[in-house]
Amino acid sequence: MPCQIILPEIRELMPSMVALRQRLHAHPELSYEEFETSHLVAEKLREWGYEVHHGLAGTGVVATLRKGHGIRTIGLRADMDALPITETSGLPYASRQDGKMHACGHDGHTAMLLAAGQCLAESIDFDGTVRLIFQPAEEGYVGAQKMIEEGLFELFPCDAVFAMHNWPGVPVGKFGFLSGPFMASADTVTIRINGRGGHGAMPQDTVDPVVAAASLVMVLQTVVARNLPPLDTGVVGVGTIHGGTASSVVPTHVELAVTVRALKETTRNLLLQRIEALAHAQAEAFGATADVSISPNAFPVLYNHPRETALARSVALEWLGEEGLVADMQPMTCSEDFSFMLQACPGSYLIMGNGEGAEGGCLLHNSAYDFNDTGLPYGASYWVKLVSAFLDPVD
Ligand SMILES: [Zn+2]
Ligand SMILES: [Zn+2]
Repeated sequence: MPCQIILPEIRELMPSMVALRQRLHAHPELSYEEFETSHLVAEKLREWGYEVHHGLAGTGVVATLRKGHGIRTIGLRADMDALPITETSGLPYASRQDGKMHACGHDGHTAMLLAAGQCLAESIDFDGTVRLIFQPAEEGYVGAQKMIEEGLFELFPCDAVFAMHNWPGVPVGKFGFLSGPFMASADTVTIRINGRGGHGAMPQDTVDPVVAAASLVMVLQTVVARNLPPLDTGVVGVGTIHGGTASSVVPTHVELAVTVRALKETTRNLLLQRIEALAHAQAEAFGATADVSISPNAFPVLYNHPRETALARSVALEWLGEEGLVADMQPMTCSEDFSFMLQACPGSYLIMGNGEGAEGGCLLHNSAYDFNDTGLPYGASYWVKLVSAFLDPVD
């Protein structure tokens, strides 16, 4: 690791940062159950002189630190939750909790933001206000939205807010930035096809929801192919299909769960409308009916604001040069609930390398995933540098 580019103040914190990251990894907590994690985060921040609010959206922590007289405020966000996965990494600090695991690297996000917080409090001069936002329930349970509903930006106003995610496949020490739509919206549509059950030997007396569902699965594939302009991005995927109990029984209903992704809100709305229309039309074509519901745990498109993204990028460029940036960053069809924060406040979401090949680990959400500790000082240094750039101290 080229140590000279890591902030010396962060390099000093390396042993404690690694120890904390591995401790969090060994003790993962699921969405809205980040009790120990948030307690530890709040304790440390209080110790370093932050004004700490603990309990927004249940386990969320917002910590504020002021220096100088500057009126600008920057928010930095980390997510704290783990996933319902049984770990198979075999690491000495592998999860001690069966069925719970930090498979998305939120242990690393928390450790990096804490180290940056300590560094900002103890050794860095800036002019303004820093807010560190530790959110619960990023993994599908919209903790960011909950924090906003409970008054995040009214209680703790920010001029801009930033977040980063570790990314396997990208070398350690590289950061990725993209202005505009960066991550997709995510909706889950549940469709229940209601038929009339009966004896499988006498189909003429039934309305078979299995046939209607099978037809619907195929027809849904035409939505992206035939309804979207070819240069628009969309995903419509049937992830689950459940129905029936025996070959000789026509079931009363079949249920499908569909994932829907888009990089524009207009595309998202079009996809949802077409899915609903096709569900009803297909059911009707077979004499069945359809109930369609869209999950309230939905994520909007993550839109990076141009001015804040340009600043975030310039910080990495000045620090690491062109080789520190992911060339030709493209939008992604995964999703992230930081999108809610970016609807409420200008800001930017960026990625940082977790390493390439075996070093970077397998895919996120894999049962053997591990945050790469060599990336910790890069992420923590980046946060400190971003704050310094945003809250330039007066001479
Ligand atoms: Zn995740
Ligand atoms: Zn994640």
